[in-house]
Amino acid sequence: MNIINSIADMQALALAAKREGKRIAFVPTMGFLHEGHASLLCEGRTRGDLLVLSIFVNPIQFGQNEDLDRYPRDMERDCRIARECGVDIVFTPEAAEMYPQGFQTSISVRELSQPLCGDSRPGHFDGVATVVTKLFNIVMPDVALFGRKDYQQLAVITRMVADLSLPVLVEGMPIVRETDGLAMSSRNAYLSAPERESALCLYRSICTVRKQYAAGERSTGRLHQAALSIIQAEPAAVIDYLEFRDGTTLEPSFTAADGTLMALAVRIGKTRLIDNTVLGKEL
Ligand code: AMP
Repeated sequence: MNIINSIADMQALALAAKREGKRIAFVPTMGFLHEGHASLLCEGRTRGDLLVLSIFVNPIQFGQNEDLDRYPRDMERDCRIARECGVDIVFTPEAAEMYPQGFQTSISVRELSQPLCGDSRPGHFDGVATVVTKLFNIVMPDVALFGRKDYQQLAVITRMVADLSLPVLVEGMPIVRETDGLAMSSRNAYLSAPERESALCLYRSICTVRKQYAAGERSTGRLHQAALSIIQAEPAAVIDYLEFRDGTTLEPSFTAADGTLMALAVRIGKTRLIDNTVLGKEL
């Protein structure tokens, strides 16, 4: 496994692979890898001849008072997991090379970036779209894998790739959960033991909504109320948003149907967790 820091070196390796007719599969991450990331890497391994993992805690997608400085990092462990998943190249650029003095370009996927996380994290998706575009230009992947855990991010990137005719296939992958249902996240490392217990209210609310939907409930108002009462019963939980939206356009949904997205962001102490489910689809 090759560990590459420089943009020029990565581009040279990508071009050489392309000249040999190799397909490049790419998994962009911020590191502190878990089984969610590993599931993307395993799929990537089957989809490309060259599997590239990027680890980059992207400063421009963090707001002023967010957790950029304390975001968990463990390069040694990440490299061990990457090796186990059959990664060929780990690309870990420096922020100073990605965003040199004078950097001023931004990609904005206007409408899909507005609601949900865009509302509570202004500028977040512009930072994501911009870094993903840069990473695509550096790694030159044929296929890139993203988790549906970050549902809105996947929607933004899918739209951006279509709008800008980027020559890459974007694939969404299922949410990987702990055995008790908590969606895996690097940020779960912030949770104390009691907070970890409280955090289960997100999954409980999803299961309740899915159950009521399966039993025939179609009012998003009533589904919302059912989810709300579960989360509000948890003293440590503060809801950032809890919404029902069209799974493609992210427009608000008043009547639930197959394909309706239930998305939520909840603060447990200082940690902000997100989760989602698409009604009528597998968990
Ligand atoms: P991150 O390192 O958090 O930026 O995530 C990198 C990629 O892994 C993104 O495409 C995420 O959606 C995906 N990912 C993170 N957590 C999970 C999970 N629990 N299940 C599936 N994919 C995930």
